[in-house]
Formats: sequence, C-alpha cells, structure tokens
Amino acid sequence: MAVMTSSARPLLNRRLAEFGTTIFAEMSALAQRTGAINLGQGFPDADGPEAVREAAVRALREGHGNQYPPGPGVPELRTAVTEHQRRFYGLSYDPDREVLITAGATEAIAASLLALVEPGDEVIALEPYYDSYAACIAMAGGTRVPVTLRPDGDRFVLDLDELRAAVTPRTRLILLNTPHNPTGTVLTRAELAAVAELACERDLLVITDEVYEHLVFDGAEHIPLASCPGMRERTVTIGSAGKTFSFTGWKVGWVTGAPELVAAVRSAKQFLTYVASGPFQYAVAEALRLPDAYFAAFRAEHLAKRDLLSEGLAAAGFGVFRPAGTYFVTVDVRPLGHSDGLAFCRAMPERAGVVAIPNAVFYDHREAGAPFVRFAFCKRTSVLEEATERLRKAFAS
Ligand SMILES: *Cc1c(COP(=O)(O)O)cnc(C)c1O
Repeated sequence: MAVMTSSARPLLNRRLAEFGTTIFAEMSALAQRTGAINLGQGFPDADGPEAVREAAVRALREGHGNQYPPGPGVPELRTAVTEHQRRFYGLSYDPDREVLITAGATEAIAASLLALVEPGDEVIALEPYYDSYAACIAMAGGTRVPVTLRPDGDRFVLDLDELRAAVTPRTRLILLNTPHNPTGTVLTRAELAAVAELACERDLLVITDEVYEHLVFDGAEHIPLASCPGMRERTVTIGSAGKTFSFTGWKVGWVTGAPELVAAVRSAKQFLTYVASGPFQYAVAEALRLPDAYFAAFRAEHLAKRDLLSEGLAAAGFGVFRPAGTYFVTVDVRPLGHSDGLAFCRAMPERAGVVAIPNAVFYDHREAGAPFVRFAFCKRTSVLEEATERLRKAFAS
C-alpha cells in the first residue's frame, strides 16, 4: 500500500531529494546477489586488536558506560584524545573545553556543518567527496561548491588557484579531507600552508576530516591543518577510531578545536545522538594509548595490501593511481577500453566476480569522475589475492 498524505508533495524533502539511496547499498546488494568479492565498501574484514576488544568487554562487565555517558564524552577518552594529538603532532588541547566525542566521524561532520553553516552559506568541498558531506551540507541549508582534484601523473592534485577562485563573499568554510577518500591523495605541507593562508586571508573556518591519519605510505606525512600557522583557532579537526583500530561498528569519533568551535559543535551534537557508544569510549581510550609499534604495524600491514592490490589492478590492465594514504585505490578504466565507471561497476560483478565503487557518484561534475573506480584494500590478503586473480582473468588480454 502506498503511503498517502493529504497533498501530492513527495515524502522526502527537497533538501534530500537528490540523495535517494547510497551507491554502497546498490553495490553491496549486487555483491550479495552475484557472490562477488566486495571491495566496494571500506570496512575491514578482520577486527582490530584483541586487547581493545577485551577492553570493551571489561567496560561492559564493570558497568562503565552502560548508562548515558557525559555529553562531551567520557573524561578518560577526552584525555586520551589530547594525549594522542600531542604524541603524534605536538598539538595540545584541553580535554574539558577543546574535545568532543561523537558517534563516529559521521556525526562529527554532521554536527559541525549543522552548527557552523547558516542557510545560504557556501561550503567548499574537494570533489570527489565523501558521500555524507553533500547530504550534511544540504541538511544545514548550505550550498556546496566543489573544487575538483585532478589527475596529474599517478596522483590526484588540488589546484590551489581553483580553490582560491572558488571563494566568494558567501563562503563560510572549507571542508577538507586528508588523507583523501577516494583518491588516496595526502595533502603536502605546502598545499596545507596555502589552504591555511587562504582561510586566514578570507576569514574562513575549516572542517578537516582526518580519519585516515594513520594510513599514510611511502614517506608521506599526515599533517593536521590545525598545526599550520593561524589555523588552530579556525579549524575543527575530526578523527575516528573506526578506521585506525579496525572497529568501524563501534562508531566512536571526536572533534578537537578551539573552545568556541567545540562548544558550537556540541550544541548541534546534543540534539543528534546526545551521546553514543558508552562502553566503547573506554575501550577506544585504551586503543589511543597503544604503543607506537601498533601504529607502525598497522601502517606496514596496509602498505603491503596496497601494493598487492595496486599491482594486481595494474596487471589486469587498469590505470592505477597508487595512493599515498587511506585504504582505497582509485583506478582509470579507460586503458581497458571503457569510459563509464558506473556502467563498468554495474557489469563487473557478473563479468569478473568483484565489486568496486564508481567515483562519479562522489562528484558534482560527474564527467570529471566518469572513468574512475575505487577498490578497497582493507581486506584479508587471501581475499585480495583471489580478487586480483579474478580481475586478471577477466580483463588482462
Ligand atoms: C569512513 C569515513 C568516515 C566515517 O567515519 P565513522 O567514524 O565510521 O563515522 C568519515 N570520513 C571519511 C573520509 C571516511 O572514509
């Protein structure tokens, strides 16, 4: 039976009408129907450290976080976040006024945009962008202004002139993501310095999504924008336990920033979930205090997986952009004689038994992203081997 209302108005409001269902739902359903290996959605197929999982069990058993934790997050975790920012980046934050724990980075992004964007404000985002950015900018009533990362050799680069040209008197903020999903680009110190200079000159806020901060390769360095001159007081930095500790289902994220910014984000956050993930907050506090060896091993393991998948994709004939960060590889399907990544991804499960995501859905300028496709390598080595073997058989001539 159709749902009826008294008017002929569509049920989904106009702000969200363009965001029907995500590509992940479509592609995961396709994987299920065809039995294909799913390298589409970016979640690990093995859980993170046993000690961290046990810490969650202990918190549950001992009754830590089973009832509403404090709105800003449990003090143990807020302190652990400040220790992490100091240990890796030399940034110091006050755990009481400059840290907010959220239901994953997703809620941090939503709350930051809902708090800081006035209807009609322009928000600059790098395209291809993480899919929740566009929807959250829309929910906040903002207008998104995409700046396209363009292929240059074997990486996608930010054109700083294009970024500068995108700023207008209506621009409120820049929404940055480094290491960048899906292209794998890690912004360099010089690029970040240019973004910082622009933000200061035009008095812009910046929200920076750094959930892949620990997944950088080949000597690339993750540099938090907040560490650039003039940026600490105008930057909302977002982190998450999901990607760094391979517990994406726990949904523990955080915001760090100047007290006024964090207070603003908290105002929006308190009416979204209020609080979330009580016992997991205690476990993530322990995870953030793992020795440097954990982070080094995590990186080394993913570097090996990156190389395995990148080489397999190249052997199958794709044009490979070897990522400097994240756990995704973007490829160009044109060397295989195709030009439409979306059609290619819809056909690939039947043809090759592997699922990937067409980058075009992360662009406003769809034609700029048309030939690009994203594969995730946060999967067991045996799965990546099987997937690359299937791709080679299907496509290599
Ligand atoms: C996975 C991801 C997120 C979401 O993180 P959660 O902590 O699971 O909410 C946000 N931004 C980017 C770029 C991501 O890839």
